[in-house]
Amino acid sequence: MISIKTERELELMRKAGSVVAVTLQELREAVRPGVTTASLDELAERTVRKLGARPAFKGYNGFPATICTSVNEQVVHGIPGPRRLKPGDIVSIDMGAVVEGYFGDAAITVAVGEVEPEVAELLRVAEECLYRGIEMAEAGRHLSDISHAIQRHAEAHRCSVVRQYVGHGIGKQMHEDPPVPNYGRPNRGPLLKPGMTLAIEPMVNLGGFDVETLDDNWTVVTVDGRYSAHFEHTVAITSNGPEILTRWQ
Ligand code: MG
Repeated sequence: MISIKTERELELMRKAGSVVAVTLQELREAVRPGVTTASLDELAERTVRKLGARPAFKGYNGFPATICTSVNEQVVHGIPGPRRLKPGDIVSIDMGAVVEGYFGDAAITVAVGEVEPEVAELLRVAEECLYRGIEMAEAGRHLSDISHAIQRHAEAHRCSVVRQYVGHGIGKQMHEDPPVPNYGRPNRGPLLKPGMTLAIEPMVNLGGFDVETLDDNWTVVTVDGRYSAHFEHTVAITSNGPEILTRWQ
């Protein structure tokens, strides 16, 4: 069942989305060589609460933090801790916030100091994949048009998209129907309608798409050890095209 949000629900999702956007913007500015991922998490939690929202990830299935911080070959779900970021690293920061029972969810990947050219290219392509997907989030298209646009753009730049983790519907719960894969043939799946809200989140790898989970039971890494980037927005389908609910300034 894909839920259709009312205008009032969308208004609450805009609030939650704006908390996520403001917080990610602060985190992006805080990323630099020498900072620990735990200090980014503290900043995130402070900011979310100051803005009158609640962190969505903290306690979700037992996750211990406000943000996921996934460094280099880590794809998603990395746990903040004492690790210090160093020049040449990349860090994916994924976070959600809840306002009056409604969720926003977004992710960015940030370069730490100077990174290798192929890594800078990975970040560019992964972010472009997100916007290629969002462009397809229009009433009257099929869900898999989003998936296909993302996959095509990644593969045209000799990157791969992760299969095991996908985007999702979002709203009153962080994960709702439908799953939103980042790969697939166009013109399949449900028809997109105004009022649907989707978290679109390509995870793009420099190497192969295979991933595995570390012994902490959270951190997902690439099997080949090559770098991975992750960008995400919460998007509403409207009669005037896609509306990004987590857009930062
Ligand atoms: Mg998500």
